[in-house]
Amino acid sequence: MSNCIFCEIIEGSIPSEIVYEDEAVFAFRDINGQAPLHVLIIPKQHIASINDLETNNAHLIGQLYLAAKEIAQTEGYTDQGYRVVMNCGEAAGQTVFHLHLHLLAGRPLTWPPG
Ligand code: AMP
Repeated sequence: MSNCIFCEIIEGSIPSEIVYEDEAVFAFRDINGQAPLHVLIIPKQHIASINDLETNNAHLIGQLYLAAKEIAQTEGYTDQGYRVVMNCGEAAGQTVFHLHLHLLAGRPLTWPPG
């Protein structure tokens, strides 16, 4: 999709530090990391937010979580623990309207989040 920064990252026209890629999923380090590990896991298909999900996206959402599990393992955080979170809409802090999971690890993560 034009004017989507994450679509441009997938295309490679904006550089990123890629940590995972398969036919449907792309993951890269957050430019403003909030923890020692902060990776964004996104579908290659442009979907703006959870509000735009449809029934036939159900498998894709599972693929995002399986990628999170694999990245956490590769980065060495399986046993220590990690957080996977998806913001939906401005009040929740969503600033980029291309669906993305945040994978965070490497420091104590408090609950509830701010
Ligand atoms: P959210 O606020 O949930 O929409 O998350 C968007 C995330 O994208 C933020 O954590 C930003 O730091 C991150 N971000 C924005 N632009 C880039 C970029 N060019 N490369 C990597 N991460 C980015």
